[in-house]
Amino acid sequence: MSVAAGPVEAGNRIGGQSRPAADGQTFESRNPAHTADVVGVFPRSGAGDIDGAVRAATEAFDAWRRTPWPRRAEIILRAAQLMEARKDDLARTMTREMGKVLTEARGDVQEAIDMGKFIAGEGRRAFGETVPSELRDKWAMTMRQPFGVVGCITPWNFPIAIPSWKVFPAIMAGNAVVLKPAEDTPLCALRFVEMLEEAGLPAGVVNAVFGYGEEAGDALVRHPGVAAIYFTGSVDTGRIVSEICGRMLKKCSLELGGKNAILVLADADLELAVDGALWGAFGTAGQRCTASSRLIVESGALDEFTARLLDRTARLRLGDGLEEGVDVGPVINETQLRRVHSYTGVGREEGASLLTGGEIAREGALAEGWFYRPTVFGDVTPAMRIAQEEIFGPTTVVMPVRSLDEALAAANSTQYGLSLSVYTNDLRKAFRAINELHSGIVYVNAPTIGAEIQLPFGGTRNTGNGHREAGGRVLDEFSEWKSIYIDYSGHLQRAQIDTE
Ligand code: ADP
Repeated sequence: MSVAAGPVEAGNRIGGQSRPAADGQTFESRNPAHTADVVGVFPRSGAGDIDGAVRAATEAFDAWRRTPWPRRAEIILRAAQLMEARKDDLARTMTREMGKVLTEARGDVQEAIDMGKFIAGEGRRAFGETVPSELRDKWAMTMRQPFGVVGCITPWNFPIAIPSWKVFPAIMAGNAVVLKPAEDTPLCALRFVEMLEEAGLPAGVVNAVFGYGEEAGDALVRHPGVAAIYFTGSVDTGRIVSEICGRMLKKCSLELGGKNAILVLADADLELAVDGALWGAFGTAGQRCTASSRLIVESGALDEFTARLLDRTARLRLGDGLEEGVDVGPVINETQLRRVHSYTGVGREEGASLLTGGEIAREGALAEGWFYRPTVFGDVTPAMRIAQEEIFGPTTVVMPVRSLDEALAAANSTQYGLSLSVYTNDLRKAFRAINELHSGIVYVNAPTIGAEIQLPFGGTRNTGNGHREAGGRVLDEFSEWKSIYIDYSGHLQRAQIDTE
């Protein structure tokens, strides 16, 4: 067993200091590949701890919002550079704490570096508008202002990238932050916040409070001192968060689930499509909101595509993501392992054909962790639960269709609309798919994963509530507009009032 070090014992980061939970309770973060390996012990925080963090953020906010944008940007850029220098260490910590294979963990850290560099550029942009007034000798313009103290609640599957997607733009815009990371990946979040502090971020501008969603997370959402919530997680939790924010009139940005599909048309390059399907379905053990959990295949390609997919799936190596040559790591925890396995039962009962996998892997060292065999179902129809519900594990389904129209209808038939992809060499079909697929992201001849930070990220329908993360307009999510009118005429001028 390749274990880096003993457990880290850490407190919350509040006002630049380490603080235990008020009632002294703790919880453990464990390595999903070797569950006896305790990665860290963290405070199990409650409403009092959240309140302390919101107070620290409120205190820090005023000086931070007055700090010039380019100065704020320099700190963010320095944090990104620290991450770059420590990329490998961070990635190893991530693989140990969360399980994704090392190459993917490096990619996760890289995404955060990219976001830091990208958003730091806004320090000298963050443009407002100057527009003509309808009145003489009157000037009209806009500028951005921060919300105040904002809450970021993040999941475990991108333990550094997702916090960075929220925290970097939030502080760039002048907000102060309380971050409540997922209970499965507190150490990654701690490292992220420590680097911001090391880069020169004033104490209290970003605070991290560890603990469970129903306790610390809920308290953060309900805190009257928090103006906006940025949440990534499940649809069920998103609804709860959104209801509370709705009642309290808080801004609420939700990034929820996906049931993404790759459409493989009869004319597609099948080797390319199989490469994409494997990476999309089994990368991060299928635990991405953009995972390719449905493969919708036109009849002309079905036999050949399925045969090649099964052959390649059988050759994937399961194991500890820190080991060379491992393709698929563990799933995050026991609850998730049981959930993924329960869907194998659902698929069987619904009459789908289990083509490969469908088992908890227990041989040798795999018994030390939460490993599930890469699983493929065939003969799946759009109405089946395994074609509708997000499994969030290494399970994908092959859905046969007879035409492009049928493929498009099947692709659009779930409650989600995050990422859809089409493999074809026919330009007309590709453009039809681009227009007809109802999702926030569409790929052509690439799988459903691989978002880049300079484009908006998010989805239609129940994937969210109409917001987008990242992209060139990301500051719109993290700041409010102020419209400014300056009348230098020296007398009262009345807009919209007719004058004779
Ligand atoms: P996942 O399936 O990714 O674990 P969750 O929605 O359960 O999805 O969790 C995502 C994040 O939301 C985690 O940080 C979790 O602690 C937090 N969370 C869970 N329940 C709540 C809640 N009721 N209120 C606020 N945050 C919550």
